[in-house]
Amino acid sequence: MVANGTEGEPASAKDKVLLAQQSPHLVLDGAVVAAEVVGADRAVVVVHHSVREIVDDAAAERRRAGSDRIRIEVMTGADRFVGGEASALIHWIERGVPTPTRTPPRASERGLRGRPTLVQNVETLAHLALIARYGAAWFRAVGTSREPGSMLVTLLGGVHRPHVHEIAIGTPIQQVLGLADGVVAPLQALLLGGYFGTWVPAAAADLAFSRAALAPVGASVGAGLVAALPDDVCGLAETARLVRYLADESAGQCGPCLFGLDAIAGELHRLADGSATDQGTLRRWLGQVEGRGACNLPDGATRLVRSALTVFGSELEQHARGWCCATRTARILPLPLRTS
Ligand code: SF4
Repeated sequence: MVANGTEGEPASAKDKVLLAQQSPHLVLDGAVVAAEVVGADRAVVVVHHSVREIVDDAAAERRRAGSDRIRIEVMTGADRFVGGEASALIHWIERGVPTPTRTPPRASERGLRGRPTLVQNVETLAHLALIARYGAAWFRAVGTSREPGSMLVTLLGGVHRPHVHEIAIGTPIQQVLGLADGVVAPLQALLLGGYFGTWVPAAAADLAFSRAALAPVGASVGAGLVAALPDDVCGLAETARLVRYLADESAGQCGPCLFGLDAIAGELHRLADGSATDQGTLRRWLGQVEGRGACNLPDGATRLVRSALTVFGSELEQHARGWCCATRTARILPLPLRTS
């Protein structure tokens, strides 16, 4: 089995906080439980380089204690956006190349060394360890009846105290923002889920943070990201930056992803800076790349762009007239240094 703690999503910190500040042993407990359930004799724990030493130390403690019946190996992930995708992870472990491949076969059918492989996120494994310890009823005591339990969220952007928090699933977003001591300025919009996620208008802060509550507005909890966009920052310019990053993260195997996302990023940038005024070309290109990648990168990027065209529709009209509502130039959504 493979424990996925690569956290390729640049704005997310939940897996790193879980592994470094909470308890690496909780994740390793969950990896052992999962491995035993599926009959695996080996668990490979792939983590972000920033927490590698901590997880190495935890694995060494367990080896010294001789407490686990399975072998735990720790390795550093590829630090690429698509590096956490299950097939990319398998290729990274086997060959040091983090490239996704089209499914089927899924990793659960043919994974490491051609054998069925369970790939699970480290947060899920931590939950599994707690359920094994305290039982299902304990886990279901929080959350909603359809989506029980808690989840880790990364709060960032225009909030006073960006950080990772554990919330009960179904907590109102307004209340979630309160955990970061609230917003620094009136909200213009929220980016939910991650950079594969969806922009929603500020009014969506009244919704609960759950799959069921967010589905009607086309959003999802995704990787647990809640990014607040203040009303004095340009959402189009922020989205253009994110899409340029996503285009640069293409593994370069699929034409629509390699060339299409690059073209989309360029056109969105032109709409954001006012040098293009017609959305027709961009919308046509979005339709041409959707569903045409071996992994979800093209679909995730186009979902982000489509939500921006909806939520920032009035800004697009203003930009076409050479005017922008933003009163400060700010980059509130973090990107890795290589592309920001
Ligand atoms: S869709 Fe893009 S990132 Fe995904 S496998 Fe194809 S080229 Fe690579």
